[in-house]
Amino acid sequence: MDKYSEIRVPISHDNPSIRRNERKCVLCGKCKDVCKKKMGVAGFWKYDSEDIVCINCGQCANVCPVDAITEQDSTDALMSAINNPNKKVVFITSPSVRVSLGEMFNMPAGEFVAGKMVSLLKKIGADYVFDVTFGADLTIMEEASEFIERIKNEKNLPQFTSCCPAWVKFVETFYSQYIQNLSSCRSPIGMQSSILKNYFSKIINIEPSDLVIVAMTPCVAKKFEAEREELRSFYGKDTNIVVSVREIGKLAKRLKINFSKLKDEQFDTAFSTGSGAGVIFGASGGVMEAVVRTAYYFITKENPPKDLLQFKKLRGYKDVKTASLTLMGKEIKLCVIFGTMQARTILDKLKNKKYDIIEVMACPNGCVGGGGQPKSNSTDDVVVKRAQGLYDQDEKMDIKSSFENPTIQFLYKEFLTTPLSEKAKQYLHTTYKNRPYRK
Ligand code: SF4
Ligand code: SF4
Ligand code: SF4
Repeated sequence: MDKYSEIRVPISHDNPSIRRNERKCVLCGKCKDVCKKKMGVAGFWKYDSEDIVCINCGQCANVCPVDAITEQDSTDALMSAINNPNKKVVFITSPSVRVSLGEMFNMPAGEFVAGKMVSLLKKIGADYVFDVTFGADLTIMEEASEFIERIKNEKNLPQFTSCCPAWVKFVETFYSQYIQNLSSCRSPIGMQSSILKNYFSKIINIEPSDLVIVAMTPCVAKKFEAEREELRSFYGKDTNIVVSVREIGKLAKRLKINFSKLKDEQFDTAFSTGSGAGVIFGASGGVMEAVVRTAYYFITKENPPKDLLQFKKLRGYKDVKTASLTLMGKEIKLCVIFGTMQARTILDKLKNKKYDIIEVMACPNGCVGGGGQPKSNSTDDVVVKRAQGLYDQDEKMDIKSSFENPTIQFLYKEFLTTPLSEKAKQYLHTTYKNRPYRK
């Protein structure tokens, strides 16, 4: 047990997401503060227990003033995969990293650098670079369909979103009575990795085990998610390596790549077409807005109206946002939360307050404030600018909703058949487990 656990968060030696350099720690207590007050984790389990409770969000690393806590570095594993001639390395990049990677090279927060990012990853050694907005669209097709089923059957409501692995682990640990409320959808990275291993590998005629999927994310909880046994198959893990924006930024500097001079390159085409809905996934409220766009279409067979394509009540830097809309002749109540401490306050009153669907992202303003994002002293301002960068991009896109994405339509036609089909359930959904802890 950590002898300083009265002051700081204890970190287990096998934590897949974060680690601490003891020589740097100045015992300031900021890590414990954020873990308790924003994440609702420290202080909610018994500190003399041997099993340390952590939801892997990485917010303690973001606030540590001396970089004593950092992400677990996966760049050695990445370089050894790149240097192995028998492997093909496929990068998949999360929606929010394109508006934050530039900060690692002194560019302003929110600047859209997708083209330079693809170019950088190719220089590092990627064989393919795909965009996770595709996986986000796939998630929405499944999650919106699942939501409509639950509404029709009045079962397991409110539905909780499941794309944030820190939130999923939070429910599994502290609110296991609500596990059935979690959507069974894998996260966008989980879905895209599975499609690449099980479908794309056949197209390019390679063994799934020789395809190394590297997720570049804002998130250190994804390092934990990639290890989940529920996401393993006969070939091993679906997502092999997870690297944060910080790790890629530092690696580029180590390799002496001049980011600002890189020419824009396009994502590889096969699994990169994404909609605006997939892009806004990176901001708090974005997943909900994306679900609403596609659920509206599935129910009415009409494109969503303008006010649903800019659902103002679901946007903005507020830790709890609520809204409602009428679907299937019913008033559907929506709730969007960031910060798992704030989620506690909603979950504790869930019996009295009726919602139909709840989005929770662990980090401030969602993934734009993720535990693997570039560190900043003016966090509030920065996460607002990053989110705005995503909404601006959505504005510019012709394809606004996941159901309109032609590559998604193709994948269902050629492989998955329909949302919630047996194949879709096999490759795109998952299960969860109770994680007992000592109070
Ligand atoms: S925030 Fe960093 S320096 Fe402060 S107690 Fe925690 S690990 Fe130590
Ligand atoms: S990763 Fe999150 S849950 Fe784990 S110690 Fe840090 S702040 Fe707490
Ligand atoms: S909010 Fe995003 S970055 Fe933060 S833990 Fe969840 S998925 Fe990861």
